[in-house]
Amino acid sequence: MSFESMISRRLGDPPACDKDAKALQFIEEMTQNADGVQQNVLAEILSRNAQTEYLKRFNLDGITDRETFKSVIPMVTYEDLQPLIQRIANGDRSPILSAHPISEFLTSSGTSAGERKLMPTIKEEWDRRQLLYSLLMPVMNLYVKGLDKGKGLYFLFVKTETKTPGGLLARPVLTSYYKSDHFKTRPYDPYNVYTSPNEAILCADSFQSMYTQMLCGLYERKEVLRVGAVFASGLLRAIRFLQLNWPQLTHDIRTGSLNPKVIDPSIQECMTRVLRPDPELADFVAKECVNENWEGIITRIWPNTKYLDVIVTGAMAQYIPTLDYYSGGLPLACTMYASSECYFGLNLKPMSKPSQVSYTIMPNMGYFEFLPHDPNSSGHARDSPPKLVDLVDVEIDKEYELVITTYAGLCRYRVGDILRVTGFHNSAPQFHFVRRKNVLLSIDSDKTDEGELQKAVENAIQLLHEFNTSVVEYTSYADTKTIPGHYVIYWELLVKDPTNSPSEKVLNQCCLAMEESLNSVYRQCRVADNSIGPLEIRVVKSGTFEELMDYAISRGASINQYKVPRCVSFTPIMELLDSRVVSVHFSPSLPHWTPERRR
Ligand code: AMP
Repeated sequence: MSFESMISRRLGDPPACDKDAKALQFIEEMTQNADGVQQNVLAEILSRNAQTEYLKRFNLDGITDRETFKSVIPMVTYEDLQPLIQRIANGDRSPILSAHPISEFLTSSGTSAGERKLMPTIKEEWDRRQLLYSLLMPVMNLYVKGLDKGKGLYFLFVKTETKTPGGLLARPVLTSYYKSDHFKTRPYDPYNVYTSPNEAILCADSFQSMYTQMLCGLYERKEVLRVGAVFASGLLRAIRFLQLNWPQLTHDIRTGSLNPKVIDPSIQECMTRVLRPDPELADFVAKECVNENWEGIITRIWPNTKYLDVIVTGAMAQYIPTLDYYSGGLPLACTMYASSECYFGLNLKPMSKPSQVSYTIMPNMGYFEFLPHDPNSSGHARDSPPKLVDLVDVEIDKEYELVITTYAGLCRYRVGDILRVTGFHNSAPQFHFVRRKNVLLSIDSDKTDEGELQKAVENAIQLLHEFNTSVVEYTSYADTKTIPGHYVIYWELLVKDPTNSPSEKVLNQCCLAMEESLNSVYRQCRVADNSIGPLEIRVVKSGTFEELMDYAISRGASINQYKVPRCVSFTPIMELLDSRVVSVHFSPSLPHWTPERRR
């Protein structure tokens, strides 16, 4: 069978160009020989890192076979590695985890003790990740034609970076990528032309960056063929930005001048090549934006958009209805599955509906193992030790937690993502992203678990002591009806002395006290990114949580085992809670956040 017909049979239409054909062939080769590739990846990682302090601990003695690896190397969490990572952060340059020097830390949106996890990385890792990026458009071109005839309007941002005590950079993975030569000096590719200039993407001030990206996107509205951001929340933030800033944006377009709030010299310089007075365009944009009804605004302003390129799987699924509203139901393409630790794989059918999205893990990216996930297991040590399954041995319909071994030195590291196998592409399995473990609340890249919420409530309760008031029960809800979304905490109070009940002001302060004790990613989203709104407490009538229990029991919950859900989203429960609200309170100011880590 010719390669072309093989691609057509496997993936769809013929490749768009020679470069695409090569990329698609690479996918075929990797996935046809998934197990062989995995074996080589493991051998390569173990042999190059044989002399690291970490591997020497387990006396591998340079052995690189799978069976020995599995029998001697334990599965670990971030907390297990934290002391080693801290030593690297403090400046110890000896080969602790990796034989190759750690080039920087990628700061994960997953946190440990309230701070972003620090993921060590090595220089060559960007070559591997770039390779994965280079596969995305060749796959997309199989399904959407003519993407070389226009541009992508992508809202991409860098965030602040810090240095560890030992002088290594610590920054989010995409900040590292956008600042790398792989991105900045990428060769021209007609299928990958963005409306946003690098200068705007690389500006650390989020207002100036967003303003410029939006302005450029408006100027080139007819060229735009796809609109995107990394996550759905980011694209909605851009829409909200347009709602708030269209008068100034249209003023700039009308006059060909740049908003004086954009002071970054490199942006000012590059915008001289973009800005021109265009009263007709200004009138058009103003007419669309002044309209109260923003339904379908994306396709009205960017009429040639073929799809939205945003991740809407996992926690981002909550934004699908809002995106559908603003885009008039354009296809939502989730192209890849990746993390700070490792990039995992891509979606070979990017036009599939969000609920049907599966990611194919690319076996060359790292060594992947899968911990069977049993939602009913206690996770106690007395349970028999879990057996990890190899990439090609996972079973369809089963759920697993992803465990990775990376070139940068993470060995059998639990990522915390739960995946379900939906099928295979050649011998490489495809996974539906089920959820991240232990995440209760998420609006943007924040992830708040039950323990963090509990701690935040306990912190806030301190303020109620002098009013002899306690919180009888609580639950929470991620409210994404507004942009930005915000956390809602329902409280049932026991006020022991009604003549001395907590004032409005005190309850507002309770909101802030909760925010202060939430993790640094939450506070960064609140303070620096403005991607989460003020936390809200809704005080409900006494007896509400008993009603909630009655409701759950009426639906079959066991009275003995009933536990108050610490997060709710089921509409009838929300309606019950909201109908019992006696007062609402919002955080009066921003919590504390600085780029510096607390530890
Ligand atoms: P970070 O370490 O901050 O880069 O976040 C990585 C995490 O984001 C992953 O472990 C997943 O939990 C989540 N994530 C990344 N890509 C996707 C995706 N395509 N769908 C759902 N969740 C994703």
